[in-house]
Amino acid sequence: MSASQPVPAAARLFLSGNEAVARAVWEAGTRVAAAYPGTPSTEILEVLAKYPDLYTEWSVNEKVALEVALGASMVGARAFCAMKHVGLNVASDALMTMTVTGTEGGLVIAVADDVGMSSSQNEQDSRYWGRFAHLPVLEPADSQEAYAMTRAAFALSERFRTPVILRLTTRICHVKGVVVAGEREAVEPGGFTKDPRRWVMVPGNAKPRLPLMFEREAAVRAEAENSPLNFRVDGSDRRIGFVTSGPAFMHVREAFPDAPVFKLGLSCPPPIESLREFAATVDSLLVVEETEPLLETELKAAGIACHGKDVLPRTGELAPDALHLGVARLRGEVVAEPEHVVPQQVFPRPPTMCVACPHLGVYYTLSQMRNVMIAGDIGCYTLGAGHPWNALDSCISMGASMGTALGMDKGRGKVDANKKVVAVIGDSTFMHMGMQGLLDITWNRGNVTVLLLDNRAVGMTGGQDNPGSGRDLHGEETTRVDFAKLCEALGVKKERIRVLDPYQLPVLFKALREETKIEEPSVIITDRPCVLIDHYVPTKPYLVKEDRCTGCGNCVDVGCPAIHVIRRDKEVKASGKEVDLSFVRIDTSACTGCGLCVQPCAPEAIIHAEPVQPLQPMQFVRK
Ligand code: SF4
Ligand code: SF4
Repeated sequence: MSASQPVPAAARLFLSGNEAVARAVWEAGTRVAAAYPGTPSTEILEVLAKYPDLYTEWSVNEKVALEVALGASMVGARAFCAMKHVGLNVASDALMTMTVTGTEGGLVIAVADDVGMSSSQNEQDSRYWGRFAHLPVLEPADSQEAYAMTRAAFALSERFRTPVILRLTTRICHVKGVVVAGEREAVEPGGFTKDPRRWVMVPGNAKPRLPLMFEREAAVRAEAENSPLNFRVDGSDRRIGFVTSGPAFMHVREAFPDAPVFKLGLSCPPPIESLREFAATVDSLLVVEETEPLLETELKAAGIACHGKDVLPRTGELAPDALHLGVARLRGEVVAEPEHVVPQQVFPRPPTMCVACPHLGVYYTLSQMRNVMIAGDIGCYTLGAGHPWNALDSCISMGASMGTALGMDKGRGKVDANKKVVAVIGDSTFMHMGMQGLLDITWNRGNVTVLLLDNRAVGMTGGQDNPGSGRDLHGEETTRVDFAKLCEALGVKKERIRVLDPYQLPVLFKALREETKIEEPSVIITDRPCVLIDHYVPTKPYLVKEDRCTGCGNCVDVGCPAIHVIRRDKEVKASGKEVDLSFVRIDTSACTGCGLCVQPCAPEAIIHAEPVQPLQPMQFVRK
């Protein structure tokens, strides 16, 4: 990815919400933009990195990204950072102080909530952070609004000298629409003004600023009462009036086109008096908000009677079906409650890893181990919890495998005394939040073996670079972390750190067995790139010689999606035991020749698809 790509001229563009935000950030004259990749927000920075005349970076985590943005704002530059909802938890330490310092150059924080949990460990409503941190929250409903509100957020930020949260949801991020775009503004940073009482947040300096924060909040609240971002849509059917924000507005308009609607764009702080006036014009008020009853609670606290989560779902998107049901409940109509079963329109297929993924061998090996407790982490490694490996006992949050494993080690009783404790984490996750956990393990003399799966990419979000890949957001070469040295610096003895090839199963198994026997911290680093990154080079594919295949299924347990079971059978052993057999075929168009499945195949039924070559390690080329 490189900067200075041709920029589409101001025009009607067909953009996703993420692309629209990126366009607006660029047009706003932003000088610095930082993010950590996380679905559904990832594309904002990927797209922004293609625009010229601004600095963009992947940061190692969301807190650092926000700090980078604040630094730029301090010198008077317009700054932006993006993250998914769970990322704002990570960044919140910085957020809760910068709400006290305020900002100089406009600072906008895009937070993408995964409403409906398409790829996250939890569902969480980032609008709470606006209330918690006393910050304005803007909520677009489509791509055009994502564009317009991003521009408005910079103006609001500079007017009130405050960070502004742009709350997106998965639907906004990924759905495309027409956007009327403009041109880039020339915005010159105002420069840094030394002012320790403002920027050095020791208690003596922070205390006098707290009243300023509340004054600012009151001023933004007054702004919200009159903001054109908050408006009413009149309707002829006044039995129910809706209060809504974000994409839920679209669902309300679709489901009840004749109903009056109060649409919130600047939703925090809410324009309570305008909403009170609106409530007086309808028979009853229904608050439609994804996901928490936040505004509903605030309206009730202000003495405005309303309905909300008493008739609407607490989780997921509020699509027209859910709204129709909710309104029927509100009207006291008898409704058939929906069955809580997700209709299967396609053949159910569990999420799985990619063909030849270097993690396959790790999880196959772990699945063969007995008496082990395995703490997993966020990312592709999470898939190791699924079939056929079933090789994870926990997965909590980014970087949590280390602390969880240490807790398992320190907290176990006699019943688990003989078990080994293993933590599994990826390279990017390790740098994001895992390093501190490893330091805690070494410092507190934990007995944990850490598997650090270095695939040189943030695999789950699409193969983005990180400090372990040696390339930056633009694909340019930069410093590459030496994980072995890093682990040593964190307190792991040099002889307890091994770097090995995850495609070599016997080597991996032996290393795991040896390291888990030794009662001190150890790290096994597996060093093979993600198969989806652009410099992975496949070798000759394999096929199954069907007359040699005994149907043992050992290769199926590796979990490679290129291996297909073509026939099942049963065999009765001499002992009388019945055994399931799975006869297989390899999809040679998908097979990359990694050689993993060859290793557990006892009858040597898996051979090269072309004239046999000696099994050689996979090749990869570094730029
Ligand atoms: S060699 Fe086996 S494990 Fe590797 S890609 Fe081919 S089928 Fe998959
Ligand atoms: S491991 Fe070998 S023998 Fe067993 S099912 Fe696979 S190809 Fe057939």
